[in-house]
Amino acid sequence: MKVSHRANSIKPSPTLAVSAKAAELKAAGKDIISLAAGEPDFDTPDFVKEVAINSINDGFTKYTAVDGTPVLKKAIQTKFKNENNLDYDLDQILVSVGCKHSIYNLMQATLDPGDEVIIPAPYWVSYPDMVQLTGAEPVILKTGIADNFKITPKQLKGAINENTRMLILNSPSNPTGSNYTEEELKALGEVLLEHPEIMIASDDIYEHILWGADRFVNIVNACPKLYKQTIILNGVSKAYSMTGWRIGYAAGDVSIIKAMKKIQSQSTSNPASTAQFAAQAALQGDQSIVREWCQIFKARHDFVCGELNKIDGVRCRPSEGTFYSFPDLNDVIDRMPNISNDIELAEYLLEEAGVAIVPGSAFGAPGCIRISFATSMELLEESLARIAKALA
Ligand code: GLU
Repeated sequence: MKVSHRANSIKPSPTLAVSAKAAELKAAGKDIISLAAGEPDFDTPDFVKEVAINSINDGFTKYTAVDGTPVLKKAIQTKFKNENNLDYDLDQILVSVGCKHSIYNLMQATLDPGDEVIIPAPYWVSYPDMVQLTGAEPVILKTGIADNFKITPKQLKGAINENTRMLILNSPSNPTGSNYTEEELKALGEVLLEHPEIMIASDDIYEHILWGADRFVNIVNACPKLYKQTIILNGVSKAYSMTGWRIGYAAGDVSIIKAMKKIQSQSTSNPASTAQFAAQAALQGDQSIVREWCQIFKARHDFVCGELNKIDGVRCRPSEGTFYSFPDLNDVIDRMPNISNDIELAEYLLEEAGVAIVPGSAFGAPGCIRISFATSMELLEESLARIAKALA
């Protein structure tokens, strides 16, 4: 049977593929530790689960408004005001099936064949494929460990042409954990203010997993004049350990949100009603758990980064947030006779050490690997010892 050109033009998500392979090997009885998954290992807080269970028992099991329940949208509006000092009317907010879906809707609603989207690399694996699904072109801006994995205003300026339609910013970043400072965002903002036709997709999903700055700042905070040009993308998955509930949201210019809503109305309709109640509870509940988890991630980060840097040929930059380390292993690859790239290295680590990680190529950064430390300290100690032995 025929498969569309569109489907053939993309690949399956590599982060999900590696996680699935690790789970499969584990189920087959192999001793595998997975450092592949991009999801917190904590349980969803009980107060969130209770609200969700009550919502089912109370009969809230039917369609909701396509763009989310008014009460959840109000909770999101309040979150933006209190945490980000940003004002949005309710018709500037759309709730979707995870932040991934918000990003997908945004691209479907705004991009056409011939448009270009600037994506700083290393990037989250799904950005380029989502761009490609619209017929637009991803334009990759390379950065490395020497630049702290951040683009410069000069680089941005050099990549802009008459076809440029969007820039994606993800800070703190998956996979590098790098966080742009307010000054750096201001400087990028200066370039973007000269191009009001370019939209900025600010993926703020790791907002709360940040220890390397006093407070979280996105590009609109740094450069308020970019308010109209920017769509903020966020969700409850990472902050509240609610990956499976699939609730994300977007906020921005009303015409864009309206177009995204139209696409959602003709595809998924509303996100699951129960999950919306859960998300509302998370946003309105006691936030202390979020800070506690962030401290746990920071302790794990310090351990993982420290251990990685002890291995000959591994260079790991201490990061400011997220639950990923993104070490550069080019020197290791150079000195290992049977390994010529990060994909082979990832296979070797899976077979030799029983540790699953995602190769850097998946993020547009060959020679690096992504290690998720969203797992217990005990497993991290064991897996880092195994990696060190396998690379010795
Ligand atoms: N964002 C996470 C990751 O990078 C979740 C998996 C995905 O959707 O890519 O691993």
